[in-house]
Amino acid sequence: MPNPLTRTGNNRKEYAMTDVFKGSFTQQESIPEEGIAAAVEVMRSGRLHRYNLVGDEVGETGLLEREFAAYTGARYALAVASGGYAMATALRAVGVRPGQKVLTNAFTLAPVPGAIASVGAVPVFVGVTEDLVIDLDDLEAKSDQADILMLSHMRGHLCDMERLMEICDRAGITVLEDCAHTMGAAWKGRASGRWGKVGCYSTQTYKHMNSGEGGFLVTDDDEIAARATMLSGSYMLYGRNGTVPPEEIFADVKYETPNVSGRMDHLRAAILRPQLARLDSQCAAWNARYRKVEEGLRGTPGLRLVERPEEERFVGSSIQFLLLDWDETAVGEVVARCLRRGVELKWFGGAEPVGFTSRYDSWRYAPSEPMPKSDRILKSILDMRLPLTFSLEDCALIARIIRAEVGAVWQGAQA
Ligand SMILES: *Cc1c(COP(=O)(O)O)cnc(C)c1O
Repeated sequence: MPNPLTRTGNNRKEYAMTDVFKGSFTQQESIPEEGIAAAVEVMRSGRLHRYNLVGDEVGETGLLEREFAAYTGARYALAVASGGYAMATALRAVGVRPGQKVLTNAFTLAPVPGAIASVGAVPVFVGVTEDLVIDLDDLEAKSDQADILMLSHMRGHLCDMERLMEICDRAGITVLEDCAHTMGAAWKGRASGRWGKVGCYSTQTYKHMNSGEGGFLVTDDDEIAARATMLSGSYMLYGRNGTVPPEEIFADVKYETPNVSGRMDHLRAAILRPQLARLDSQCAAWNARYRKVEEGLRGTPGLRLVERPEEERFVGSSIQFLLLDWDETAVGEVVARCLRRGVELKWFGGAEPVGFTSRYDSWRYAPSEPMPKSDRILKSILDMRLPLTFSLEDCALIARIIRAEVGAVWQGAQA
């Protein structure tokens, strides 16, 4: 008996129910050859520590900081050990104290509330909309509860940044941005990470540049930059950083700021510099893949895509769709059926934290009020990485598989 889903295709393969995807969702591209060569040179030199410099040499880490500052248009860039470290450092550098409340997204990854907790502060979660951005009405309602917002551009979705800044400016809230998924993205032409006081980035393997572990913090603020530099473990060698605030800014800062070691070394910086040089073309390659999957999923009954606003320049290194108001068994069935055909979907709303996913209510160190509107959305989010090792044909196949399996479960539920 012909399957109803195979009937309408003019291309037989397009609706075949048996195709299996063989690629790996965790396989990133290799490091560019120039990066490998530069890394080998650093290893040959034996001088891996960022302050192990000869004469007035800037070194790979300092050069990377200059290049990242130029790329983002920030006055200062500081290369550090991880994205989570960049966030904790930003919180410390703006003066967050133990016990202080910090607003943040309910839809984000564990290192975000983790960074807040690491400085002894207390996360206050703000809801998520069907467009997977922070709920600005909820933010407004909670704006009197804290004077810092750690804004996570989770999965690369940028909210209306003008409205967010208006709300925060009015309430005297300092905005810090978690740009782990938005390196290379912008809202109305202004780069993500450049709206708030500080932008934090990750160069961990699954982000837009890959040094295994690593991160950046960018800011235009002299004092924040000086404190972050001291915090990162510069000792009194801060003058050797790639971008350095004027000496007088350090007058008190250098005595008052604890050293919380989290530097980046030359080896990672050497790997990252050629990746930064080609970041924009990588972003274009991600978006081509994203659009391919999106196109293949569009119009699937029961499945909601997240429409990207015109103001947003995004980086489609992952894609999300919503199965809104599906019951949990059916969502679980979609995940299982796709997995059998080689397509790994992550279910952010699953009741138990699995792999990289978790829900705000699974972070028990940060008690939260129930958020029914957000829970409805979180429960419906399915997520998939789109590594650049996938071809456009791979992406089309992945979309066909999801379309067929969502369709099959949906039809079963209607029957
Ligand atoms: C990966 C990630 C981070 C933290 O980056 P690390 O470099 O792994 O510490 C922060 N926020 C989000 C949303 C992330 O995905």
